[in-house]
Amino acid sequence: MTVSEVAPALDSWAVAQRQFDIAADRLDLDPGLRAVLRQPRRELTVTFPVHMDDGSVRVFEGYRVQHNLGRGPSKGGLRYHQDVGLNEIRALAMWMSWKCAVVGIPYGGGKGGVRVNPKQLSLRELEGLTRRFTTEISIVIGPEKDIPAPDMNTNAQTMAWIMDTYSMHVGYTVPAVVTGKPISLGGSEGRVEATGRGAVVTIAEAARHIDLDIIGATVAIQGFGNAGATAALLLAEMGASVVAVSDSQGGIYNAEGLDIKGVRVWKSEHGTVVGFPGSERIGNDTILELDVDILAPAALENQITADNVERVRPRILAEIANGPTTPDADIVLARNGVFVIPDILCNAGGVTVSYFEWVQDLNRDHWSEEIVNSKLTAIMVRSFGEVARMASREDVDMRLASYLLAVDRVASATALRGLYP
Ligand code: NAD
Repeated sequence: MTVSEVAPALDSWAVAQRQFDIAADRLDLDPGLRAVLRQPRRELTVTFPVHMDDGSVRVFEGYRVQHNLGRGPSKGGLRYHQDVGLNEIRALAMWMSWKCAVVGIPYGGGKGGVRVNPKQLSLRELEGLTRRFTTEISIVIGPEKDIPAPDMNTNAQTMAWIMDTYSMHVGYTVPAVVTGKPISLGGSEGRVEATGRGAVVTIAEAARHIDLDIIGATVAIQGFGNAGATAALLLAEMGASVVAVSDSQGGIYNAEGLDIKGVRVWKSEHGTVVGFPGSERIGNDTILELDVDILAPAALENQITADNVERVRPRILAEIANGPTTPDADIVLARNGVFVIPDILCNAGGVTVSYFEWVQDLNRDHWSEEIVNSKLTAIMVRSFGEVARMASREDVDMRLASYLLAVDRVASATALRGLYP
């Protein structure tokens, strides 16, 4: 069985544990170690009150989960969403452990969230919610313990509030308690582009691996946000022909290649890529089924499923989004010879530059964008090579290879540290 043979992919936590089991079976992991890694180390659920603008008090529920601390403090984003639940956060925390291990940065996996629709809150209410939530989870976070970062619906401003609240508690400024901060508060150069840039490095490596010339290769990208738009721009700069991009309002296509810089300007002026002059409008389903060399889902989970996978036929599928492919679709991709760059490798550039930000903060240092980008590139190239070598040595697909590498690294660290007391 491969990591992919996990169906159906409805409960993320069940999927994450099943993926782990498959890798653990293949690694013949010691049963005790397996039981340890199969569960999060710590889970904190908090309910906390916030003053609303109308004078009322509302109570919110939030979570912080630390999956494994064997290789270092836990690291992972905080999301604000009305559907956030403990199981989703558990899965995301476990995936962060594997992601950090795949790229060899010294963190364990963590994740957190608040069950809230942030679009219904004023800025002042959001600040109040963030500061009180930070206070509630401050017993488990800290620069040496657990370092949050932005995720869905949280941003550099959210991180600035968390950093300030935590600093007020301890009595001095602690920039390293979160990453993804504004540059003026200890954020890193290159962090905003890091996920897209890291993904493009893995795409270039994959192209070399399967003997595909990037110059002139056709590309489609679903999701023209932070990560997707950066990847589109960098691929176009490398000579690829980005023929289609999309956002939540739809997609655009031009067989001759889109002017990506122009599309960026258009999106910033019109709020969507749709309507870009000289392009043909396409749907968000169609974009996945185009006849292209490189396809990069960079928006949502569960986009490539049993329903459409037979029509998804790029040479390279670069998973910039987290979990864009369902496990049952994965089996078909492998059978159809699609080279998948799995999410825990493809989008790891973001957490890698978060790690650089943390290191700079701890050292009260500030690196140039050039240094950040060259260190990022070196890590992504090395990691791709390690996963590809594992895939060929074990005769497995890239997803299982990345899991074998990651689970083995976390398991070894946990075993070497031994059992306390
Ligand atoms: P973003 O919010 O900047 O962009 C998301 C884009 O997806 C937007 O353009 C939005 O319009 C589009 N979108 C939403 N619904 C869509 C739909 N149904 N069809 C097509 N497009 C749709 O987010 P981002 O930071 O670029 O993240 C994108 C993905 O990458 C997410 O899965 C995220 O988890 C993953 N990721 C991001 C980072 C990071 O550092 N930004 C790191 C790791 C993983």
